[in-house]
Amino acid sequence: PETLAVQDPELWASIENEERRQRDNLELIASENYASRAVREATASVMTNKYAEGYPGKRYYGGCEFVDVAETLAIERLKKLFGAAHANVQPHAGAQANMAAMMAVLQPGDTILGMSLAHGGHLTHGTKVSSSGKLYNALAYGVRKDTELIDYDQVRELAREHKPKLIIAGASAYPRTMDYAPFREIADEIGALFLVDMAHIAGLVAAGLHPSPVPFAQFVTSTTHKTLRGPRGGIILSTAEYAQAVDKSVFPGIQGGPFMHIIAAKAVAFGEALQPSFRTYQQQVLDNARAMGEELLRAGVRLVGGGTDTHLLLVDLTPKNLTGKAVEHYLDEIRITVNKNAIPFDPQKPAVTSGIRIGSPAITSRGFGEAEAREVGKIIGEALTDIETGAKKDALRARVAELTERHDVP
Ligand code: PLP
Repeated sequence: PETLAVQDPELWASIENEERRQRDNLELIASENYASRAVREATASVMTNKYAEGYPGKRYYGGCEFVDVAETLAIERLKKLFGAAHANVQPHAGAQANMAAMMAVLQPGDTILGMSLAHGGHLTHGTKVSSSGKLYNALAYGVRKDTELIDYDQVRELAREHKPKLIIAGASAYPRTMDYAPFREIADEIGALFLVDMAHIAGLVAAGLHPSPVPFAQFVTSTTHKTLRGPRGGIILSTAEYAQAVDKSVFPGIQGGPFMHIIAAKAVAFGEALQPSFRTYQQQVLDNARAMGEELLRAGVRLVGGGTDTHLLLVDLTPKNLTGKAVEHYLDEIRITVNKNAIPFDPQKPAVTSGIRIGSPAITSRGFGEAEAREVGKIIGEALTDIETGAKKDALRARVAELTERHDVP
């Protein structure tokens, strides 16, 4: 058989170029990471060939005895990792996990209450352009202007007034610890169910370095490819009471055949997350985010929420009179990848923004310690003084290269 490189050189070149980009650039997108070789081996395995509609032991296809082993391993490891009563490992990605969890208990037209996208929430938690906002009557809470922390008074007021059937917590750009107890208390008061989307922080939760939502929520959804460092994918955890509803909602509710190669890779990743070395990694993720934050503060920006308890920083560039768009573009040119991101109450348009979001998971997977994270923070800090003239670009790009050459990708 021919290798991909020989059979399809045009496509192969795109993969090679992407591999080089991942090696040469400092990856600071908070939702990205480098999956291990073992995870990628499972992803590229023959399990991609297999149809397996249904669940282990209850399939609509023959020949499922070996994919059943893989899915059962994934389920059992995932339940152990988070202490959950039930786990579904079939959602193709985070968006599907959220859609299936909602459809397990909601009818079109029901009211939901989630965190505003503009304040750090996710698209799938009720924005008008997503199925969650089209199917359901979606309301949003945000953060307080003074603290930039979740406004629990607003959550309570909206919940009491509109009686949502489901309250959703979880975010894509919230740097501080999330407290789940008040959410559950409010949900119980009005008879709502509670869903936590822990996609960004799942690895920290698995390592015991962020409070777990599992004891507080009937449903916990996540992606598997962010801090959890697995293949691209989604999962749903639930209490025993909703196990059947969740499974039916994923298949046949919104999906057909599960991606068995991805489920095998999820099993590998959950196995890795159960190792003691995973906790060491996640602690370093936290230390590196904090170290970058300290250097950025020194450079004169403001950190939304006053700092970080997690893997990410939301940087307010307005003290430097800069926009997220301009800074993202400049950093790209010195091989640092970040994303522009709205800050709460952002006066700029979403395509411009006043902020950038910076995450430590990927550089930590490359073996960066605190010293390297500080150097990254210093490079970005100097870049902020150079947006106008670009005089330091070559020197800063060389400092990035020094770091990436010293720490190869896993
Ligand atoms: N939930 C949260 C909190 C996210 O940040 C994301 C992705 O960024 C998702 C869900 C969606 O995941 P996916 O892109 O895998 O559909």
